[in-house]
Amino acid sequence: MRFPLALTVKIARHIIKHKLRRTPRFALVLQLEPLHTCNLTCTGCGRIREYSTSLKDMMSLEDCLASAEECDAPMVSVCGGEPLIYPKIEELTVGLLEQGRIVYICTNGVFMRKKMRDYLAATYSASQEPTLTRLIQEKLITDKEAEAIRKGKTDGRPVISPSTWMYWNVHVDGLEYTHDLIVEREGVFKECVEAIKMAKILGYQVATNTTVYRETDAREIEEMFQFFSSMNVDGHTISPGYDYDAAKKDMVQRLGRKPEEFFLTRAMTIEKFARIQDWAEKFTIFGTPVYQEFLSGKRDLSCTAWAIPTRNIRGWKAPCYLMTDGHYAGYHEMLEKVDWSKYGVEKGVARDSRCENCMVHCGYDPSGALGTNYQSGDNWKNFKYNFAPRPAPSVEGSKVKAYNGVSIGKGHMSGARNSATAGLNGAKSAFQHNGDHDHGGGCGSGDTSQRDDLLAKIRSPR
Ligand code: SF4
Ligand code: SF4
Repeated sequence: MRFPLALTVKIARHIIKHKLRRTPRFALVLQLEPLHTCNLTCTGCGRIREYSTSLKDMMSLEDCLASAEECDAPMVSVCGGEPLIYPKIEELTVGLLEQGRIVYICTNGVFMRKKMRDYLAATYSASQEPTLTRLIQEKLITDKEAEAIRKGKTDGRPVISPSTWMYWNVHVDGLEYTHDLIVEREGVFKECVEAIKMAKILGYQVATNTTVYRETDAREIEEMFQFFSSMNVDGHTISPGYDYDAAKKDMVQRLGRKPEEFFLTRAMTIEKFARIQDWAEKFTIFGTPVYQEFLSGKRDLSCTAWAIPTRNIRGWKAPCYLMTDGHYAGYHEMLEKVDWSKYGVEKGVARDSRCENCMVHCGYDPSGALGTNYQSGDNWKNFKYNFAPRPAPSVEGSKVKAYNGVSIGKGHMSGARNSATAGLNGAKSAFQHNGDHDHGGGCGSGDTSQRDDLLAKIRSPR
């Protein structure tokens, strides 16, 4: 099966329950953003820009868990910002799993190995020595880190353990050159690969999460899938990047580039995703075949953004993950008060001009699962896709030249560093993680000083 049986049953039960009750709108996936602080400033990320004045604010653990209870989505995608900077990420993960949810931790991968070392320390016994030896041999941990693991973990806090109900969902937008260009930092791709290797050795489930931009080469995406498939990654989510307001402003203000040079229009999305159904045959692409048909231009779908609601420090964000027309105190209040008929694209006409180029998963993937715009045979198509055997790990993947050149000095930031507009961005000015103020806790160093520094800044009074 492409997706584990127990998880499929959980989601199917949830949909059937609401269909029988004729619930007009309900949540499938909660996008939970406990904080917007991030150690990176990726090109195209509106989060750290839209919420740049509140980067030090965080949702309380209780608020996070209550939000998950309130909307009752079977899946929770913990994102941000970088969720591994959230000081109670372990308690949050455990709490969501205790509620019976499927948890995705959407991370840029930089702090994953630290969290997995914590897990190893918390569960250390002599029987783990062969695993530690392998991790040292593969240079995924150092001798010093192995020593620290052997001492155990005594702070009494939980850890993020491998579970069928939890995925690391690692942000990877291409092979090394492209990814480091987009995240505007050298070494991040390599760190993601090492974190994924370590996670697979320790028995975690791992997915990758890719946004496709105008400069992304579709052949490279296929090679990227081959590469990660050969590492036994459990699945991939993929979505087009389009020019929503917050990201658009960043392109202009910080990078001095025109949004249309970077983001996809609808027509370009359809072109880039022309082969998505072939990819879905070869790789474990998460999402429904109906959404894949939509991405490749074979059918229309209506936007069902209410099914993937976003909860953050300001409340329930409407209408969707990308666009903000308001924040509400409760999910049900948002469902009632938002005029959903104002959004999306119907029969080729955008109801809101900001929706014109959007084909993102958070607006349209649920439409495929919920039977919106149902066509005969859709249910069978979705069923067959999910229950078909998982595609075998790619043999070609081991030959892919994933390390195709670091991008520092050539990235999107290089122009901005020299321009008068550099530094206008909130995240950059708050944390100055680029260039001359780097703390040496960069990717792959195993050094957590950068994260610790961010945490200290979060804790300090404003
Ligand atoms: S990792 Fe990149 S995309 Fe994710 S929140 Fe941070 S800056 Fe945004
Ligand atoms: S189409 Fe839907 S998901 Fe896309 S921007 Fe509009 S409201 Fe948001």
